[in-house]
Amino acid sequence: MVEALSTIGAPPTAPRSSGLSSTDADNIRFIEEVTTNVDTEQERVLEEILSRHGEAEYLVKCCGGGLAGDTSRATFRAKVPMVTYEDLEPYIRRIADGDRSPILTGSGHPVTEIFTSSGTSGGERKMIPNVEDEVDRRYLLESLFATVLNQHVPGLDKGKALYFLYVSSEGKTPGGLPSRTVMTSYYKSHQFTNSPFPRNNTSPMAAILCLDTFQSSYAQMVCGLCQREHVMHIGAAFAVGVVRAIHFLQQNWEQLSSDIEAGKLNPTSVTDPSVREAVAHILQRPDPELAKFIRYECSKGDWAGIIPRIWPNAKFLGIIVTGSMAQYIPTLNYYSGGLPMASDIYGASEGDFGLNLDPLCDPLEVSYTMMPNMAYFEFLPLDPDRQEDGVEITAAQLVELGQLEAGHEYELVVTTYTGLNRYRVGDVLRVTGFHNAAPMVRFVRRGNVLLSVDGEKTDEAELHRAVERAASLLLRPHGVAVAEYTSRVCTKDVPGHYVIYCELEVNNGSGNAAAVVDGDVLERCCLEMEEGLSSVYRQKRVVDKSIAPLEIWIVRPGTFGELLDYAISRGTSLSQYKVPRCISESPPIIDLLDSCVMSNHFTSTLPMWAPDQRSNN
Ligand code: AMP
Repeated sequence: MVEALSTIGAPPTAPRSSGLSSTDADNIRFIEEVTTNVDTEQERVLEEILSRHGEAEYLVKCCGGGLAGDTSRATFRAKVPMVTYEDLEPYIRRIADGDRSPILTGSGHPVTEIFTSSGTSGGERKMIPNVEDEVDRRYLLESLFATVLNQHVPGLDKGKALYFLYVSSEGKTPGGLPSRTVMTSYYKSHQFTNSPFPRNNTSPMAAILCLDTFQSSYAQMVCGLCQREHVMHIGAAFAVGVVRAIHFLQQNWEQLSSDIEAGKLNPTSVTDPSVREAVAHILQRPDPELAKFIRYECSKGDWAGIIPRIWPNAKFLGIIVTGSMAQYIPTLNYYSGGLPMASDIYGASEGDFGLNLDPLCDPLEVSYTMMPNMAYFEFLPLDPDRQEDGVEITAAQLVELGQLEAGHEYELVVTTYTGLNRYRVGDVLRVTGFHNAAPMVRFVRRGNVLLSVDGEKTDEAELHRAVERAASLLLRPHGVAVAEYTSRVCTKDVPGHYVIYCELEVNNGSGNAAAVVDGDVLERCCLEMEEGLSSVYRQKRVVDKSIAPLEIWIVRPGTFGELLDYAISRGTSLSQYKVPRCISESPPIIDLLDSCVMSNHFTSTLPMWAPDQRSNN
């Protein structure tokens, strides 16, 4: 049955039933079918991927001369190794540099663009290949989610959406392929622009496509305010997007109200002619009543429940709140008065993988159902015993989608239509149950990502490099060392920032380190640390301005000893204790460290950022 379904496109037409639109009825049937026939669907997907790409250099090499038409799982699993991005980077680089031979994908399905991922390798964005029809699969998943929402929120299709969406600048690889983020590509695709969503969204496409973040936000906010009574859901791609939108309102409500009162945009906030024209279709005439209302609500300085006060018909927030975005849940609860938060999809630049079928559930309980039509999925069981025994991780340990067990954790490995074979995405997922036969997974963590404010992924090695860089350049010459450090993300203010707690010591063991290095040196340390972080971090600091300056908080000598005492009092064994390099999720430890802070430092100088030669964004 599933084989009869179109691979990626619209599910077949179903008769209208029980008040559902025919699209929704088709989508529900599609979800039920692919999640029931998991194994058959996975077999079909792998067969299709291998028939497309079996002739590509990579698979030919793995299979010692090629698959010779053998697209079976057994052969694939026996011959193709499990890889990381770093293993594939030389192949991807050749594609980016202009080699048009079939390298990762077959000649009928060439790589058409390179996605610049927020994941990094060696401090630079990863380059992920994409093929033309992948957008159809992504679009299908979005439309399935729209159906799921329609089922949970009656009348949703009658109201408007206020989604703050943005694109970022795009460039070309040395070989001339477009290089951009997956979202930029998606929002510019005809699948998205011709879908019902942009028509329902209060944000005009011209505003979404405007590269100037301020102008884009201003236009999207004006339009959302003008249509406030019709708005039934408010969202952004990720939770931080709605936090930033409310912050924007806090900073700009006076000008926004004046423009609404005047019935036109002032000449300076938005200068892009296409955006001005698009807004003029919505802000058509003076509305002093609305301006008065917004001034009244915003001038109180009370931002609790501001979302339902301004958008009284909003039923939920449409935002991903899982993974690193969970840190924004308390702020969003405060702004929204506890509206449900619907996380839609679990995906990546490499592909979209999971769909949330229970969108209004508690944000901490979100599970995504792995969709067997999206890619061929395998999983590396994360069995702590095995890892401690030092058993090497090999492809032989991989289990298939149909073999996952509830309650266990796995690392995701994908084989995609875009030319990635047995590729480790780097995400750890826990199986929470099954929808029909398809596993539902909770996002546990991304590799060892420690810090993330706006989707960037700073791992332990990157943080260590940054601390080490500052210490060696600026502290060592003074005979001072960083005795211990840890970190956390602080999202109390918008935008959020990194806090690095450092305990300093004088190398010869005598004297007060804080007296040896003055505030000026520590400010320069902040800059050096930022210079040492990834290009994604620096772009968000410098260009997007979505991360505020990193702060160093100097704690008094002995603080990390107190941290150790605390851990031991909680049952940690002294021989196993390791200083946690991130304490974002440990309120008692944050309190302990905060109480030991002697001084804090940041710099007003921005770190260097220049577009990477491989990709201009
Ligand atoms: P990127 O390739 O830049 O789009 O980043 C993809 C990564 O973001 C994934 O591998 C996950 O680590 C994370 N991610 C994407 N979607 C979700 C989600 N729904 N929940 C939690 N983390 C997510």
